[in-house]
Amino acid sequence: MGSNLDEPERQVSAAMDQLDAGAHCQVAKCSSLYRSAPMGDQQQPDFINAVCSIHIQLSPRAVLDHLFNIERDHQRIRYVDRPGGPRSLDLDLLLYGDSQIDEPGLTVPHPRMHLRRFVLLPLSEIAPKLYIPGHGLVCELLNQDQIKRQRVSQLVTQA
Ligand code: AMP
Repeated sequence: MGSNLDEPERQVSAAMDQLDAGAHCQVAKCSSLYRSAPMGDQQQPDFINAVCSIHIQLSPRAVLDHLFNIERDHQRIRYVDRPGGPRSLDLDLLLYGDSQIDEPGLTVPHPRMHLRRFVLLPLSEIAPKLYIPGHGLVCELLNQDQIKRQRVSQLVTQA
């Protein structure tokens, strides 16, 4: 999950609640929230990111539709001329068990997840021994220099 518009922390927390409230869907674990530097288009605010693991009785395609519906609830607008630009809420399907899927509009594992510290760090919090099919262990991917260089920090929440 990621957001950098309209109170990003609230957007991400609300998306976690919405996921858990969906029929056929139960949230098993959620990471903390992380603040990350934008990748690509740098002319935008930092992002708030998190990951969740869910138990779901839907096909991968139906999960993606479910995520799109939640994005729409958050007034997500896709700017054609600024694909990596700011967004109120972005929900990606990172993994679906150990499935590997390559269909129009749906690639699993998510094709860039292994390159992004803002994905790997929260993933390592909820699933430290996780293996990403085709790429390796999350903990080992995090040790790569090009990943270590990316600015990502865990948000400290007030007690
Ligand atoms: P984004 O604008 O980053 O949310 O990208 C959404 C586009 O990526 C949509 O056209 C999706 O069909 C496509 N896509 C392909 N694989 C995935 C995935 N695993 N999770 C989310 N979107 C995906």
